[in-house]
Amino acid sequence: ATPISVMVAVGRAAQAGILIRNGDALQMAGKLTCLVVDKTGTVTEGKPTVAVIEPMADLDANAVLQLAASIEAASEHPLAASILAAAKQKQLPLKTVSDFAAITGLGVSAICEGQRLLFGNKALMDKEGVKFTRYNNKLEKLSALGQTPMLLAVDDKIVGMIAVADALKKDSQAAVTQLKSLGIRIIMVTGDNQITAHAIAKQAGIAEVNAQVLPQDKAALIKALQERGEIVGMVGDGINDAPALAQADVGLAIGTGTDVAIESADVVILQGSLLKVPETIALSKATVANIR
Ligand code: ADP
Ligand code: MG
Repeated sequence: ATPISVMVAVGRAAQAGILIRNGDALQMAGKLTCLVVDKTGTVTEGKPTVAVIEPMADLDANAVLQLAASIEAASEHPLAASILAAAKQKQLPLKTVSDFAAITGLGVSAICEGQRLLFGNKALMDKEGVKFTRYNNKLEKLSALGQTPMLLAVDDKIVGMIAVADALKKDSQAAVTQLKSLGIRIIMVTGDNQITAHAIAKQAGIAEVNAQVLPQDKAALIKALQERGEIVGMVGDGINDAPALAQADVGLAIGTGTDVAIESADVVILQGSLLKVPETIALSKATVANIR
């Protein structure tokens, strides 16, 4: 039977915008030793916007954006939304593409007017054998600002770069400070590149970073931490985070996220602020103290 104090706490949490989907998770939250947080949409707003468009061959900036948007039209990734919004704002018509493919954690590809288009990160270009090292300096500079640069290739030749910026949520830094003072080890995890990931982590005050982690590997990372004796919470928002949320001792979904992620979460945070995580932990500790 669920103790009355747990039921009371669940009700109190709900009033604060924290939906606790099982009472065990509430009791476990106060015991967490380690918190894994997703970058995009958790530490950051999750609303990337195009910051820089850099043509790198014969095409001009608008042509680069137009091609990128034409591929991304079929993608559901938040990065795709930012590219499409920028193209729409410039009233660029989309071209018809075929053979669209999303390459998880890397980018997208399609055929357009008989040419093969690739749009995504350096790892995608590596995988497809497209040379990009000439642009490394530029990519690193933008990444160091916390932006996510993506390359566009036409028939395996780089023709441009688009970088998007996704601002830190206003509460992220304060939440990290509170979590640290609770003695919790914080690790940021992301599919984004090392330099961007470290720049964002630094802004938030997070020292440990796992970057370029493919979605399927996020759960494995949590399992490895558990095997080393950590009691692990995972905070995430995306479709890709569902296995990691399920693997964690306490899975916390940021409520702006997809239904899939919410299904696999023990706790759903409605307003999307990371400050709700230390609040959940404090409530858990108070409740457990009450039961005793
Ligand atoms: P996150 O952990 O931030 O959710 P993902 O695993 O979804 O990251 O993506 C990792 C990286 O793969 C992105 O930072 C981006 O460089 C690239 N990528 C993924 N999807 C796309 C896309 N639709 N268009 C361009 N790049 C993409
Ligand atoms: Mg994601």
